[in-house]
Amino acid sequence: MPSEKHPCRWPGCTKMVILRLWGCPVHWWKLPKDIRDRIRATYRWGQERDLNLSIEYIEAEQAAQDWIAALSTSQCHDVIFKSEDHQ
Ligand SMILES: [Zn+2]
Repeated sequence: MPSEKHPCRWPGCTKMVILRLWGCPVHWWKLPKDIRDRIRATYRWGQERDLNLSIEYIEAEQAAQDWIAALSTSQCHDVIFKSEDHQ
């Protein structure tokens, strides 16, 4: 069996990481703890194989992407947190 890997989920990062990890260690540890906790808490073993992602995981992943987007648009790490629009 080849070891299954996917690219780090940090936009623009091409490092390959094993499936059960969100991204490469450098970028994983850049995420705020609450987002890391959310991703870890909602991750389900084998979810990449059956592609049956829970809505909680998708929301946690979206929160990470939103946080990264806010980081990259702000200067000097002055992150502006937008209030989330949940329907
Ligand atoms: Zn990365």
